Amino acid sequence: MKTGFLDIPRAEDPLRDARERVLDFDDLHTRLPDNARSMQAQRCMNCGVPFCQSDFGCPLHNLIPEWNSLLEKGLKREALERLLVTAPFPEFTGHVCPALCEKACNLESHATTNRDNELYLIEEGFRHGWVKPNMPASRTKRRVAVIGSGPAGLACADLLNQLGHKVTVMEASDRPGGLLMWGIPNMKLPKEVVARRIRLMEEEGITFQTSCRADRSVLPQYDAAILCGGARKPRTLPLPHMDAGGIHFAVDYLSEATRALLEKRPSRLSAKGLHVIVVGGGDTGNDCVGTALREKCRDIVQLEMLPKPPGTRTLSNPWPEWPRTLRTDYGQLEAEAIQGQDPRIFETTVSSIGTDEDGHVREVTCVRVAQKDGRLLPQDGAETVLPCDLLLIAAGFTGADAENLSGFSLTPDERGRLMPPGGGHHLRENLFAAGDIRTGQSLVVRAISDGRDAAREVDAWLSSPKAAFPDGEPA
Ligand code: SF4
Repeated sequence: MKTGFLDIPRAEDPLRDARERVLDFDDLHTRLPDNARSMQAQRCMNCGVPFCQSDFGCPLHNLIPEWNSLLEKGLKREALERLLVTAPFPEFTGHVCPALCEKACNLESHATTNRDNELYLIEEGFRHGWVKPNMPASRTKRRVAVIGSGPAGLACADLLNQLGHKVTVMEASDRPGGLLMWGIPNMKLPKEVVARRIRLMEEEGITFQTSCRADRSVLPQYDAAILCGGARKPRTLPLPHMDAGGIHFAVDYLSEATRALLEKRPSRLSAKGLHVIVVGGGDTGNDCVGTALREKCRDIVQLEMLPKPPGTRTLSNPWPEWPRTLRTDYGQLEAEAIQGQDPRIFETTVSSIGTDEDGHVREVTCVRVAQKDGRLLPQDGAETVLPCDLLLIAAGFTGADAENLSGFSLTPDERGRLMPPGGGHHLRENLFAAGDIRTGQSLVVRAISDGRDAAREVDAWLSSPKAAFPDGEPA
């Protein structure tokens, strides 16, 4: 009798020991052996209402019960084919997706390990040579520019190429990948994984132009252009001395750490031997904690303005919604192992910055905040001074960066987004937008989903009479 989850306990890919893994920037996890992974797939009960693939679960609507069922039977190649129907880059989501599907699973906290199963399938695909360049059956003679090569840009380029259009991806940096390359540390998403996918896309006929800052002058050269530049304008702190030495936005700090790793040299922003304070308790703040520990910081504190979330769901946050509960991520676990305690201080922010005579940050004053009339306000008499040589701002992003906006003469909405008033992705003439630049800061998996939606919209528009061929109809 098939009893699945009743008999087989949930087992995720193990995290390497915290004290060992902070000695390098290698993958955080080891992998379960083959037979264990197919046993984990047996835990999926192919339930009548698979919330995992609903709007509460996977934004790509991955056919999770179907590929789990094939994996369970040992049909790995067939399982991978099912996965690839909806998921263009399982190796990215398999590393960095917060697994919304698992939080919506009927088994809830005992959910099937879909994310690890997904990563296993794609890595088996690469290992066995099942993942090959997927060439479009025919070409349309339409030329499309994708501006930005983060998750949305790559997903959009991939689908447009599969639909037969000639795709050129323009990337301002010297390497493609955007956030996947520079915003997520190597231990969470190894950079060779990103480079491997780019190579495959090139073999499929996509052209990547790096160190290329596109502007409106590209529009007449292409039948359509899709802006996928992300929401990269970082939120700052409204304080004096924010221009002091030793104060950096998280994305600059993380990018430099990855660039140093790839170039095999020390980071110019290294935390080595420094008192580090990270402002922001989200995923990026956690990545800063993990990176600073690997650089051998002296100590680290992470400040979070919001109250500490509850350990379990409350009545106002029922299944299958995303649980707004306390999560302790890899960096925080590492800080706990090394410093003896969680680095986070909740309901606290920086109220002032102290500098030395050279204009370098040396301490910060922190203040407790409390919610009043829906706003977080500082509380009197609740201040602490902490030593700080490196202050990292990981307070989120406020929208599209200025270069993309001015280069295309675009004005964002009040939330910094390029969201067309009627919805969709079409901004004007032959210009479209997708991913975080359209929706605001979001998850990698949502950006991939939005990139694919944009590709479908662009494809439909290219087939419509509105999209005139600049060079006449193709022969
Ligand atoms: S992409 Fe994320 S939500 Fe979708 S199946 Fe994979 S882990 Fe789950």
